[in-house]
Amino acid sequence: MSASTLVDKFGRQHDYLRISVTDRCNLRCIYCMPEEGIEFEPSANILGYEEIAEVVRVLAGMGVRKLRLTGGEPLVRKELDVLVSMLSGIPGIEDISLTTNGIFLAPKAERLKQAGLTRVNISLDSLKPERFKMITRGGNVNKVLDSIDTCLKVGLSPVKLNIVLMNGINDDEIADFLMLTKERPINVRFIEYMPIGHNDSQWKNLYVPLQRVFDECEERQWAYSTAPSLQSSGPAGNYKLEEAMGSFGLIHPVSQHFCSTCNRLRLTADGYIKPCLAWTEEYQVRNVIGDDEAVRQLFLRALGTKPESHEMFKQLADEQTTHTPTSRRMSQIGG
Ligand code: SAM
Ligand code: SF4
Repeated sequence: MSASTLVDKFGRQHDYLRISVTDRCNLRCIYCMPEEGIEFEPSANILGYEEIAEVVRVLAGMGVRKLRLTGGEPLVRKELDVLVSMLSGIPGIEDISLTTNGIFLAPKAERLKQAGLTRVNISLDSLKPERFKMITRGGNVNKVLDSIDTCLKVGLSPVKLNIVLMNGINDDEIADFLMLTKERPINVRFIEYMPIGHNDSQWKNLYVPLQRVFDECEERQWAYSTAPSLQSSGPAGNYKLEEAMGSFGLIHPVSQHFCSTCNRLRLTADGYIKPCLAWTEEYQVRNVIGDDEAVRQLFLRALGTKPESHEMFKQLADEQTTHTPTSRRMSQIGG
């Protein structure tokens, strides 16, 4: 397969597109969305499945091989399997994954798999029903646990769990999440809380550096070793507890950014290219869909402005950043 022609000025090749299919969600996680007062994009501005597939077809011709569907909650879009099936039929596309809160996933998992979905990341920030309900403002953790089991059954693997660690909220559950990897062939990924869309004191107070995960293993005298990287494990280093069926990873965008190996581009639900998750720069592609050359040129232009790195560590230290941080929330970009 030929190399990607989507190369930026730092020599990074881009073969991965994250597609947000909606800015809406059935939950309101405390780190992602406010409880109320959110203005959603009018549905007329949201890209249709045909439009998304058109963009992907052009990008596949430029070397994009991997896609991730995200949101908002992607499973609030009707018949997401129809989109998956359109995308999996595009020559060059090799891998289609989904990031979901898992609430609606169990009854849809098999159909998504048949449509060509390769694997899933499920967000799960607490195993305690009342706490999960508090963090998500209303979610039922049993539905998510049921979805995890269903995905393992239908072969949507590897199943990865995303856990955003928050000081005083769920950081006492690190060991419980690690224990899940003992019993099930899943990959638990601890993620640092990022200041996306809200640069307020809440973020600094809740931020937990991920060294805490290793500290926890050492306090309990749990041996762990480096594990082989999973397919598309992205920026997460991968580790394994002794005799565990699964593994765990740490994603630390704030304390140790992985921008030098970034291979991602993002497409927002309302049709903007975002070359970097963290900064404000974006380019509206919606209006040129149908003109393949214009779509190509716009992606190349967006890549041309992709910065070398984000500077979330500067935000943590209250230092001036070189670019303007995005004001979009994570649910509007697609995490
Ligand atoms: N609704 C889906 C879900 O929750 O998995 C997909 C969209 S959500 C925006 C994608 C991922 O971003 C989730 O794993 C979520 O935990 C993570 N996320 C959202 N806001 C975040 C933040 N401020 N810092 C770190 N991760 C965040
Ligand atoms: Fe919804 Fe996902 Fe954001 Fe939670 S993290 S509010 S589930 S988009």
